[in-house]
Amino acid sequence: MTLIAASIAVHEPDDIGLSLSRAADAAESGANLIEWRIDGLAQNHEVMDEVANLAQQLVRESPLPCIVTCRIATEGGEYSGDEQSRAALYESMVGSDHRPRYIDVEWAAMRRSPSTWASLRSCLKVEQSRSDLHTGLILSTHDFTSRPADLLQRIEGMSRDPLCAAVKVAWQARSLRDNLEAFDLLRDRHKPMIALCMGQFGLMSRVLAPKFDGFLTFAVDQEMEVTAPGQPTIDELKKLYRFDRIGKSTRVYGVIGWPVSHSQGPAIHNAGFTTTGFDGVYLPLPIPGGPVEYEHFKATVGALIDHPSLNFCGASVTIPHKENLLRFVKERGGRVDPLVERIGAANTLIVPSEFSGLECINTDAPAAIHSLCAGMGINRNEFGNLRIAVIGAGGVARAVIPGLVECGANVTIFNRSLERATRLAAEFSIREAASGVEAKLLDLIARERFDVLINCTPIGMHGGPAPDELPIPTSVVLDESVTVFDTVYTPPRTPLIQQAEARGAKTITGVDMFVLQATLQFEKWTGTPGPRETFERALSRSAHPT
Ligand code: NAP
Repeated sequence: MTLIAASIAVHEPDDIGLSLSRAADAAESGANLIEWRIDGLAQNHEVMDEVANLAQQLVRESPLPCIVTCRIATEGGEYSGDEQSRAALYESMVGSDHRPRYIDVEWAAMRRSPSTWASLRSCLKVEQSRSDLHTGLILSTHDFTSRPADLLQRIEGMSRDPLCAAVKVAWQARSLRDNLEAFDLLRDRHKPMIALCMGQFGLMSRVLAPKFDGFLTFAVDQEMEVTAPGQPTIDELKKLYRFDRIGKSTRVYGVIGWPVSHSQGPAIHNAGFTTTGFDGVYLPLPIPGGPVEYEHFKATVGALIDHPSLNFCGASVTIPHKENLLRFVKERGGRVDPLVERIGAANTLIVPSEFSGLECINTDAPAAIHSLCAGMGINRNEFGNLRIAVIGAGGVARAVIPGLVECGANVTIFNRSLERATRLAAEFSIREAASGVEAKLLDLIARERFDVLINCTPIGMHGGPAPDELPIPTSVVLDESVTVFDTVYTPPRTPLIQQAEARGAKTITGVDMFVLQATLQFEKWTGTPGPRETFERALSRSAHPT
């Protein structure tokens, strides 16, 4: 079983009471261990005897077995005092009546000055021979900039130390691929091991530690209290990522994009796994965009798929990688859904566990048409007489238009830059042999009347470029004869939806489309239709209340 250690940093004597009550909350939330980070305390107080007394109080009153760590500044901690005092502080705890379950000391510090640590080591040895409840030594190494070049030598050195109860390695991940090395290290370990990647790419190593039998993972009780970059909260680990249900055979899914931290995918798909009893976990999988975007995508997704024991079975793919996914699946000889070919972008990767190859599909397109039909109470064959304005010419517009064209609708694309809209209209006019797709500058939208307006820009989106604005001028006719479909789903009631409601128009929110495209993905991955009500509940509970 992989333990959850709640890491709590204590800085001042006055913090002790609050820290103990945070520890009690962490225990209540399901942590198995407390890591008392006392380096701030030791740094701020020159009288080490007092620090030792306070540390002993923490150990004595800790609601869970604990690790005591006085982390040195060179390895990400706050302590920059003399090493002799630090070693003596640890020794005072190991020899006391109320011993911590573990102490954590950096391997490099012990190597730098063996004589400084000799007395602590003999004390640990004596305790080890005396009692089963002796304090164990975690030997650790950290790099807050990158993967250390001599990582393997460090691990070898720590593992060989006869006093070492557990090895800990933590480094700043450069990409998702670093997590895979952490998993390989856990697989090949000789002693209980903690292998964690830090930073925005490292979450996977923290959440999937149970899959590779990691000794423990660190979490915090409150988001604002991280003691290392990228630590999740205990609630995130247990409730969002279903940490207790992750095991060797758990299938791994995620959302690939840049950025992905705002994605609602983890909230809904993990809730779906709980409802259906499917053994899966869904994670944010950040892959940077930019100049060498496809190379990053190809190398990272390829490594996830090819890892022998990760069990990576699929992903939702979002901005800016939808076109990269199509190219990647084609290059790997996978199956490309004909709709994806027409749209030129995919949003779902399926990695079959059997011998069949990769597959990519686009669930945005059917979800958009279905949402429109349901919202307007019409069938697909009733689009023929409708005049539809699509606002925006990006990825979502690209997914929405082919379905509309196929249903015979008259589509005008309005975009900020005419060139992009013209290109998109031409593509569909040629491919679909449809004369009904026109392109116009967004400024001209108020000159005509439309039956349906579909917002495919991020305007009105929480965290987007213009969260409080409307994507169309107020002079556009919005009355009871008009239907407004806003594909933005965070928040569900965007300024456009509110304006349309106020003026009597029919409205369809992006939530319908988002939930539906997710249920289609879920079904492709698990063979069971995505539980719609669960998804809606999870979405309404997560981040954006309005
Ligand atoms: P995209 O590819 O980046 O395209 C964005 C489009 O919006 C472009 O046409 C862009 O115009 C236009 N735009 C951006 N900022 C603008 C501004 N300030 N003023 C006027 N036009 C602006 O994005 P996308 O993938 O199509 O996604 C668009 C939105 O769809 C997302 O923000 C998301 O909220 C929503 N979405 C919903 C779902 C769902 O399931 N409901 C799924 C995916 C996305 P230019 O061409 O001139 O740059």
